[in-house]
Amino acid sequence: MSEKIDIKSLSLGELRQNMETMGEKPFRAKQIYEWIHQKQAVSFAEMTNVSKTLREALEGRFCLTALEMLDVKISKIDGTRKYLFALADGNVIESVLMKYKHGNSVCISSQVGCRMGCRFCASTLDGLERNLKPSEMLDQIYRIQRDIGERVSHVVVMGSGEPLDNYENLLKFIRLVTDENGLMISQRNITVSTCGIVPRIYDLAAENLQITLALSLHAPCDEVRRTLMPIANAYPLKEVMHACDVYFEKTGRRMTFEYSLVRGVNDNEQEARALCQLIGHRNCHVNLIPVNPIKERDFVQSQRENIVNFKNLLEKNGINVTIRREMGRDIDGACGQLRKRYLDQKDRKGDEQLGGLQ
Ligand code: SAH
Repeated sequence: MSEKIDIKSLSLGELRQNMETMGEKPFRAKQIYEWIHQKQAVSFAEMTNVSKTLREALEGRFCLTALEMLDVKISKIDGTRKYLFALADGNVIESVLMKYKHGNSVCISSQVGCRMGCRFCASTLDGLERNLKPSEMLDQIYRIQRDIGERVSHVVVMGSGEPLDNYENLLKFIRLVTDENGLMISQRNITVSTCGIVPRIYDLAAENLQITLALSLHAPCDEVRRTLMPIANAYPLKEVMHACDVYFEKTGRRMTFEYSLVRGVNDNEQEARALCQLIGHRNCHVNLIPVNPIKERDFVQSQRENIVNFKNLLEKNGINVTIRREMGRDIDGACGQLRKRYLDQKDRKGDEQLGGLQ
């Protein structure tokens, strides 16, 4: 038997085609689409204005992706929530809800694991397991919205994974999450963060979208950048920055540059000056992220004084800069840490069981 169709990843048009193939009236597509994307149904049985016969036919043809919430940790400091979700195949991903004055923002994962190998990042330690489907990206938001009973207004694709390494699914996801018959999140409220896969930045620039692109810069020169990010060996900064300029020219969207500050690696005055040189003439925003140490690596967070000096120097040079609020520090800080800890614990339990059997 062929695999069932992932109904939550289908556009309204594709769902209409499916209804036609099934001999159903086209208006059914919109009804079902609304159940999935507006009412965020987790089963076909919930779709009460759809006949039982059709619901059964839907069961036979489609699968309805619904993530299982394994765990949620709520920060006592700022209300940030970190979710651990299980996918249908048993893989585990994490997502984060951040509450801001301007609304609720969800940080989603785009892959299970990651193959980019950034040295300070927990998501990449075990490599890439697989890409997430559009439905699996969407459902992180749907499950969280249901959990908090409030609307999610902003999405950042900054969780585990490299979104531009899962390009087609990312685009489908963006189209679905912004669709007027779905959650209808404004494109301008969506940020996609990339380590800098140059050809895909050009592709994205040509898509005619109004989303914000964030580039993980982390160093003002190739030499230092290569020590932190293997991708820098494939694409030198000159090429990455040119791609960012084209993104800005085509979309009019101001670039965000992310810069994780690592003590003694990229946080001194010389680097701050070099960064000003590199981006000073651009209309952009810099997001400084005090590195969140992971136990597998010996990177250390910059001292507060260095962070502030770094910021001040950028500001003096007319660069728009913020230090990222370290949200949810009390509940497993950095990307991929919650998942990693869960998997490590599972491994340990597995070993114990094995020990017991021997
Ligand atoms: N693959 C995308 C999304 C990754 S996560 C990218 O590379 O942009 C979002 C940001 O957090 C990236 O800038 C990433 O480099 C950064 N990051 C990951 N782990 C971190 C850590 N332990 N401390 C500080 N920043 C980290």
